[in-house]
Amino acid sequence: MMERHTQESLLESFERFCSDNGSFKLNPDKEHVDFVIDGLFANEKAHGLKLCPCRLRDGSKERDLELICPCNFFSQKTYIEEGRCWCGLFVKK
Ligand code: SF4
Repeated sequence: MMERHTQESLLESFERFCSDNGSFKLNPDKEHVDFVIDGLFANEKAHGLKLCPCRLRDGSKERDLELICPCNFFSQKTYIEEGRCWCGLFVKK
């Protein structure tokens, strides 16, 4: 069964995700992080998954799997060139 997150527990799980990896961290702009997290919860409510709030679904399962947060943002242009995932939730250290 999928874990039900609160805002706080989701933040904790993202913090763990960052500390497990080491090369990136949560964006220090807390207001922005809260904004993205609100979007994740809105998508979970609408679509059953915490899908990226900044990119478009096409209705396919394949696309939805790409959009589950955290996504594979290391290959994204914004991460390589600007040091942040597309939504700016995670930033390079
Ligand atoms: S771009 Fe950032 S916020 Fe969006 S799904 Fe990927 S990691 Fe999450």
